[in-house]
Amino acid sequence: MANRAGRVYPASMDEAADVRCPYCGEQSTIAIDPGEEEAEFVQDCPVCCRPWTVRVRFRSDGSADVTVGADGE
Ligand SMILES: [Zn+2]
Repeated sequence: MANRAGRVYPASMDEAADVRCPYCGEQSTIAIDPGEEEAEFVQDCPVCCRPWTVRVRFRSDGSADVTVGADGE
C-alpha cells in the first residue's frame, strides 16, 4: 500500500489529525491520544484562539475519525 503524499506512520495508530477550524477556516494539525478509543475534549484554535469541541474516534484499522465543532454546537 502506498502512503498518501509520502506520509509515514511510525505506529499503527494515528497520533495527529488535520482539522479545519469552524470559526476561521484555517487548517491545523492537532495531537490526538491513541490510548483512548473515543475521546472528546476542548482545545483552542492555534490561529484564532476560539474553543473547539474535538471528538476523536479510532477505527479498527487505527486511523482516527476526528471532528471539530464550535463550542455549544
Ligand atoms: Zn480558528
